[in-house]
Amino acid sequence: MAKTHCTVLTASRSPGIAEGLTYDTGALNLALGSHVHVPLRNRTVEGIVVEIEEAHKAKAYELKAVEKLLGDAPLLTQAQISTLRWMAKHYACSLRQALKVWLPSPPWSALVPDIRTVYRLQESNAPLRGSKQQAIVEELAHRGDLTREEIREATGASSATIKALAERGILSVMQEEAEGERQPLLHIDIEAPKLTPTQQQVTQAMHKDKRPSLLFGITSSGKTEVYAQLIAQCVGSGKQAMLLVPEILLTEHCIERFRSLLPPERIAIVHSRLTPKERRATWVRIHRGGIALVIGSRSALFSPLKHLGLLIIDEEHEWTYKNEQTPHYHARETAQELCRQTGAKLVLGTATPSLESWARAKSAEYHLVRLEERYGSHPLPHVQIVDLAQVKFGSLYPFSPPLLEAIEERLKREEQSVLFLNRRGIASALLCLDCRRRVVSPSSNLPFTLHRGAGGTPYLLDHTSGMQADVPAQCPACGSVRLHAVGAGTQRIEEILARRFPMARLLRADSDTLTHPEQMRLLLKTMRERRADILLGTQSVVKGLDLPQVTLAAVLIADIGLSLPHFRAGERIFDLLTQLTGRSGRAKPGDVIIQTFRPQAPEVRYAAQHRTEEFLNEELKLRMQFGYPPSTQMIRLILRRDALHRARILHVQAETAAHEHRQTVSVTSAPVLASAGVAWHVLLKGDNPSALLPYLDLSDVVVDVDPMECI
Ligand code: ADP
Ligand code: ZN
Repeated sequence: MAKTHCTVLTASRSPGIAEGLTYDTGALNLALGSHVHVPLRNRTVEGIVVEIEEAHKAKAYELKAVEKLLGDAPLLTQAQISTLRWMAKHYACSLRQALKVWLPSPPWSALVPDIRTVYRLQESNAPLRGSKQQAIVEELAHRGDLTREEIREATGASSATIKALAERGILSVMQEEAEGERQPLLHIDIEAPKLTPTQQQVTQAMHKDKRPSLLFGITSSGKTEVYAQLIAQCVGSGKQAMLLVPEILLTEHCIERFRSLLPPERIAIVHSRLTPKERRATWVRIHRGGIALVIGSRSALFSPLKHLGLLIIDEEHEWTYKNEQTPHYHARETAQELCRQTGAKLVLGTATPSLESWARAKSAEYHLVRLEERYGSHPLPHVQIVDLAQVKFGSLYPFSPPLLEAIEERLKREEQSVLFLNRRGIASALLCLDCRRRVVSPSSNLPFTLHRGAGGTPYLLDHTSGMQADVPAQCPACGSVRLHAVGAGTQRIEEILARRFPMARLLRADSDTLTHPEQMRLLLKTMRERRADILLGTQSVVKGLDLPQVTLAAVLIADIGLSLPHFRAGERIFDLLTQLTGRSGRAKPGDVIIQTFRPQAPEVRYAAQHRTEEFLNEELKLRMQFGYPPSTQMIRLILRRDALHRARILHVQAETAAHEHRQTVSVTSAPVLASAGVAWHVLLKGDNPSALLPYLDLSDVVVDVDPMECI
């Protein structure tokens, strides 16, 4: 056999070896993903094999050899290693940074029970040939089961001699595991759900098509049931399935659905709130092979499934699929690569496709299937738009009279209402801690309220005029820098409701009140059992709920981020409003109220009329016209230290590189407010801005390829 070299990523954090080190494979039978011990300086460290190649004769220097192969099963499969390498390349990070998401933190030795392959002497009349064979048999007769290394050490026999004895039935090969048995993946027969004819058709079409499928199904069309059917088919054929959800806490009902499909010991739930210990335990359980279905948030994608047959991404357009730390991967893109490597089927489900997926569906790169009717043929709700700029609020801001009336009507009819708040609650005022004055709007002389845009950047909004302003560094009245966000926020909303509807039973749901799946379950139960009348929740919490008694859904202020110069703002609002319309009238006719400062915005008008496809086409046209993704690629370079100075240098470097390498890339840079002062972003936008990265000085720079948030 040809001599081989391998690249090993070690657990050592020493700088300079983030791309791995090359070792001589020696006689070891290594695979991609193998867990090994290698010498590093004068220590032994553990590592993962990420590349194996035939040795180049040209390599003159002496390579150190891999010391030991640990366990008999690689920690990662070949497909997973290939995906890891793709991540490093696409997201411009080191192999070690990419590896971080695939394995629990080191030491890795505890991840796999030490499995030894041992040889056992069999009763046999076959004659022994030669003294080496004789010696092996004597050794085994004397000492019992031994590994190949032990036999070789004791007798000096070659691997070939041992193998020959095994082939002739004189020795048998046994697997010994330190603890527990490896669970085989059985063909699990599950009772498939009963689908409607349309759901059935869609499922079959996806089953037949090898391309990633975009399942474009309106809210309440039964996408979950379709997933269940696909999972049943996959698991029934002895393969494993994975379901990614945007946020595990908020998908309680969805998880319940799958708990009834498969026995609990066949399901693993993976999410970022697991403690390191739980994460390890779950990883080991999955690696052993008995898990048929992994459900989890984006990081579940990296679960060690060896026979992946189906990967579903629910609500594929959600922003939570983008990792905002290094590696800055997007779960959808990475899943696509993993499926390419494993041959698994990829299904992307959504009521509001991302522009990225929509463009691919239109170019037939994705297979497009639709569910255009709600289950049970329930009609979509009627949507009313309230222009906030026209309303005289008095002390009831942000409740408009039509909204108050609609809530009152539900209370009379004993139906339920869901009210959407902005992501972090309704804005509060900016108060100066020194002169005790609130920052006021010059146009109305009323206090500004503080909001956060899509990028998390705070800004001031005058609700009477719609005027916006940046957050000042100093108090405009006294010059103090001690400006503080105060105010009622959600409490104010609750107060107004309590004052206006003293008899109403109010339930609140935001990420502060819901920190555990159990609390979510309780909330759903309270609503289903009609022990609450009004559910007041932040958008991210209430957007996916399936509550049959809800006949009114309203968003108090729809305009988060609307007027920010952010190319994804429209898409985001549209998604929010569509989710809003999806909450109402799931079992009987319902209404929706959108309160907004921008009633004419296309995303508001299209959402109100349930015209998703037209919105997508219009938006895609705009993106192409102005050269935004998905018609181009974007890379964000984030500078935190010495930011302005570095940003200027990078900006020039990027423009020069674009010019020299004939790349059409536009470069822009701008400051952004970050938690630790001002950071600078340099944005590269063009056909292939990645091509410029090798020519830039990126030390200390965070590279975010395909950013979600940008100025
Ligand atoms: P989506 O995920 O598309 O918004 P869901 O999967 O939550 O829709 O389905 C909406 C409602 O309709 C759920 O209560 C679900 O149980 C019900 N439903 C959908 N399809 C079926 C089906 N084939 N059989 C029984 N109930 C269904
Ligand atoms: Zn002041």
